[in-house]
Amino acid sequence: MAKLQAIRGMNDILPEQTPSWQYLEKCFQQVMHRYAYQEIRFPILEQTALFKRSIGEVTDIVEKEMYSFDDRNGDNLSLRPEGTAGCVRAADQNGLLYNQQQRLWYQGPMFRHERPQKGRYRQFHQFGVEAFGMDGPDIDAEIIQLSASLWNELDLGEYLTLEINNIGSAEDRKSYGAALTSFLEERAESLDDDARKRMHTNPMRVLDSKNPDVQSALGDAPALEDYVNEQSIEHFSKLKALLDRVGITYVVNPRLVRGLDYYNNCVFEWITDSLGAQGTVCGGGRYDGLVAQLGGKPTKAAGFAIGEERLVLMLDSLSKVPAQSLQKTDVYIVVIGEEMSAAAMELSLQLRSSYPQLGIISHCGGGKYNSQLKRAFSSGAELAVVLESDSGEETVKLRRLDDSADSVSVNISEAVLKVGEILGISGS
Ligand code: ATP
Ligand code: MG
Repeated sequence: MAKLQAIRGMNDILPEQTPSWQYLEKCFQQVMHRYAYQEIRFPILEQTALFKRSIGEVTDIVEKEMYSFDDRNGDNLSLRPEGTAGCVRAADQNGLLYNQQQRLWYQGPMFRHERPQKGRYRQFHQFGVEAFGMDGPDIDAEIIQLSASLWNELDLGEYLTLEINNIGSAEDRKSYGAALTSFLEERAESLDDDARKRMHTNPMRVLDSKNPDVQSALGDAPALEDYVNEQSIEHFSKLKALLDRVGITYVVNPRLVRGLDYYNNCVFEWITDSLGAQGTVCGGGRYDGLVAQLGGKPTKAAGFAIGEERLVLMLDSLSKVPAQSLQKTDVYIVVIGEEMSAAAMELSLQLRSSYPQLGIISHCGGGKYNSQLKRAFSSGAELAVVLESDSGEETVKLRRLDDSADSVSVNISEAVLKVGEILGISGS
């Protein structure tokens, strides 16, 4: 029978890869702790309407990327394609937004039916932060600073560039969109099918087109910045001043619009050229209208999401995962003869409680000395602790697994101390 395969674009993360993920997640959590953001967890599955209403009906995500289905009750549900919608739903439903400020973070899998390629998958993982109840631009600067702290923590700062833009209010974008549509209509013959369709439904997405012909037709297109209201402009210049003050460099990219409808005022992305095509590792901005749009009390908000896969690719290709975060086996307990099993279990327990920093494998499943020693070598352990019935119940051999092959035999009651001595650590 043919073996079943994983779904295309949904990756297994294997034991040799998990240390990079664990390292990334640990650094992220440390930074969150320093900024006093609290973790929130919400379901992977939500009503489809939640995403339609928040992300927007005519966005790529809602139009063609969601995994949606009717469940057994006939409710239309979707796997979450991003975290903000669910986070807002959860925070509002549980009363976290009522006259309160919240600084929240989440982490977990997201699902989008995209064309899989390096850095773009159908199940991928995001970290995100969402800050509620604060007007900005101080909180906008804070979340940007927080992301910069994470890059520093990961030693990736020099590979990432911050792009920011002011996209104004929803009304500003509406009048801009109308102007852009008329501009595009006049040049319809120079556009591709996708852009021709988009120019009526979501003209700003045409600006993102990867097609060089479309890009050249956009030459003197109206600029969003000419449609942005005074208040937004002031907000944006204050944000820039705050970033300048803390030494965060940025590039203002007037073309940066983001693919989700709920953003307003300032949006930003962190980009790298060390990944090839999928160079955006983090995107975010303000979304002051979203809470009310989902039925809550109007609440100011800002947040961002980071693509974990892209950061792991960076960490690995730039060798930024410190050696000590790789999981290591230090001691391998060799157990010759079934009658030694109980002694081995007891000794391994004592060793683990005396030296909690060590990784200790206690051999299971029997076998000859040589085959067990082979496993001990390939485990990467420094020391083998050999319990063998032939050498007498009370005697344990401690054998270094390096070229010296030094070994000593000790009484089992001294084994714990001696292991510490050989490995140069003291017990607790
Ligand atoms: P892109 O322009 O790369 O499609 P996006 O604007 O769709 O990104 P967001 O919705 O803002 O992405 O998600 C935030 C981050 O999540 C992205 O910057 C990226 O790092 C990551 N991301 C988004 N989609 C995927 C995916 N399909 N696979 C892996 N990572 C992804
Ligand atoms: Mg996308």
